[in-house]
Amino acid sequence: MGLEVTTSKLEDLVNWGRKFSFFTYPFITACCGMEFMSVAAPKYDIARFGAEFPRFSPRQSDLMMVVGTVTEKQGPALKRVYDQLAEPKWVIAFGVCASTGGFYQNYTAVPGIDQIIPVDVYIPGCPPRPEQVLDGIMLLQKKVAEGRGINQLRARREKLERHRLEQEGA
Ligand code: SF4
Repeated sequence: MGLEVTTSKLEDLVNWGRKFSFFTYPFITACCGMEFMSVAAPKYDIARFGAEFPRFSPRQSDLMMVVGTVTEKQGPALKRVYDQLAEPKWVIAFGVCASTGGFYQNYTAVPGIDQIIPVDVYIPGCPPRPEQVLDGIMLLQKKVAEGRGINQLRARREKLERHRLEQEGA
């Protein structure tokens, strides 16, 4: 019991640190990119949320922001970059095109990046206002702190499964 409490408190502490230290990989494909730049500029000051450092190598990033339309041809590249992100990792679909394909109802556009990779937070808007983006980051921070990110949940499930197998002596 004592060990369980200590472990869960340690996890809370680690998650608290994670929520204030996102390293963003911006996967920018279209016009929403202007809004991404605006959020990073001093007026909106994303640094207040500890997410101000974009990284252009997925191996140095844990938060992927998919900003703009993704075409079917870009799909494999998106998946490859996602696979290379450091664990635990999170994904934000930035704008309606990344979230749903937007108004591109045609055969070239992916109708939402969740057809290819798991998404933690969707930010609506065409383009979203910077305030919406900050709102999305705060929502993600809440999920991370509570351990409810998609990959955090998967890791916990895998840990429980390993524990169960050990108990069964498999
Ligand atoms: S959501 Fe609007 S602004 Fe953003 S990439 Fe699509 S068309 Fe451009």
